[in-house]
Parts: sequence; C-alpha cells; structure tokens
Amino acid sequence: MQPVVKLEDIHKTYSNGEIEVRAVRGVSIDIHRGDFVALMGASGSGKSTLMNLLGCLDRPTRGRYFLDGIDVSGLDRNELADIRNQKLGFVFQGFNLLARTTALENVELPMLYSPQRISSRVMRDRAMQSLEIVGLGKRFDHYPSQLSGGQQQRVAIARALVNQPQVLLADEPTGNLDSRTSVEVMGVFQRLNDQGITILMVTHELDIAHYCRRNLILRDGLIVSDVQVHPRLLSAVELKKLDDAEAAAKLTAAH
Ligand code: ADP
Ligand code: MG
Repeated sequence: MQPVVKLEDIHKTYSNGEIEVRAVRGVSIDIHRGDFVALMGASGSGKSTLMNLLGCLDRPTRGRYFLDGIDVSGLDRNELADIRNQKLGFVFQGFNLLARTTALENVELPMLYSPQRISSRVMRDRAMQSLEIVGLGKRFDHYPSQLSGGQQQRVAIARALVNQPQVLLADEPTGNLDSRTSVEVMGVFQRLNDQGITILMVTHELDIAHYCRRNLILRDGLIVSDVQVHPRLLSAVELKKLDDAEAAAKLTAAH
C-alpha cells in the first residue's frame, strides 16, 4: 500500500542574509496508514521545521513530499492551504481554542473554511460526533475557561478530526499538561489510532513517546533512529481513573 506520507531527501535551509541554517538536511521517511509516530530530538534538531514541512505550512528547499499520493513539494500557497484543509488535522501545545466560543463552535470552525459549503445542521452533527469521539459530547456548550487543560486539548483534537484528515499532526500536544493529564490525552490518541487514524506527534518526552508505535529521533536535521516500539497501552484500570466518566466508559469499550 502506498504510504500516506512519503518524504524523499527533504532539505530545508533558512537564509538570513549571509547566514545559512541547514535545519533539515536530507530526510527520507515513509509513514503508512495507521502509523502512530513520535518525532523526538533535542532543541534545535529541526523538529518544528520538519513538522511545518509535513503540515504544508512551508516548502522544502529541496526534495519531494508526497501526501496521500500527491506531490505537494511544488504547490503554491493557495494550493497548499487547500491540501492542508482537506488532508491534515493540527493539534498544538497551547490548544489554540477561541475563548468566547463554545466547544461545539470551536470544533465547527475548520468546516467554515472547507471548499464545499456545508449546511449548519451537518456542521453541528459532525462537530458533535467529533466531540463524542474524544469523550466530551456532554460538554458541547462549555466555554474553554469552563474546561480543564486535558478537556481543552480534547476539544482541540475533536476540531482537528472534524474534516476527517488523512493525518493528524501534533506539535508537543502534552507540553502544557501535567503528567496525569498527558496520559489521559495519550489515551485519546491511542483510541483514535486504534480506529485507524494516522498520527504524527512531536514530543521531547520519552515517556510520552512510549505510548506511540514508532519512534523517530532527529539530530542536526537528520533522522538518526527509526524504531518500532511496543506501545505502552493504557489499561482499563488506568482509564477508569480518568476524571471524565464518559470518556473512560468509551475508552474502556474500545479495548
Ligand atoms: P526544534 O523544533 O527541534 O527545536 P527547529 O526546527 O525550530 O528545531 O530549528 C532547527 C534549526 O533551524 C535551529 O538551528 C534554528 O535556530 C533554525 N531555525 C528555525 N527556524 C528558523 C528561521 N525561520 N530562520 C532561521 N533559522 C531558523
Ligand atoms: Mg520546536
């Protein structure tokens, strides 16, 4: 089967006047459907640069990038924006929710930018489904300030899923969360991955990478390690401890 992400000798060089920084120096990787990848590496190793390239937010200086079979390396800004909207979902460290907007409305947002017009009823139904997947169906009318950090990140995950992306990209999604809440969020990612969703996340915590299935390490712009791991699966008992009983019930049912 063709990989959902294929990077062929990808380079990214930043030029600021006379200084050149070779942030990514020839990365080739295949990511297959259903992969759950942690991208690790020290600060400055090129993780964010690589994620920006993968997320079609920036273009490589050299090399080719095939996303879902499409060569996106040569596309212009507008074309990249369309691809991003159709094929990718993003989760950030800082949640990036709109404060004066309910959970449901936050999740509806990406559908407003969809190229095809979607009726408000369909938007609402899809956003509700997405919130139910992350165990927050009952909190749809809550504002971000009324939700815990873990719940806010789950809303952000629901938002990332709402356009049914091919790949979910997450940059330090547990970076702002305590360790217990981080595990809760990793439980949500594991359940999504069990359902076949492809996930690629940046983390600098080895502990978090252990919940993924494949670990990549970047050093000085190069992949220096790429290993399959036996993921640490959350047990039913651990899941029961999660603060949201609804989420726990769903997660347990999935195991
Ligand atoms: P990481 O996310 O692993 O910390 P980055 O991708 O942010 O690494 O950075 C990799 C290298 O590229 C670093 O040396 C950084 O200083 C440099 N860099 C990142 N972004 C830019 C930019 N916009 N202009 C110039 N240099 C940059
Ligand atoms: Mg970074």
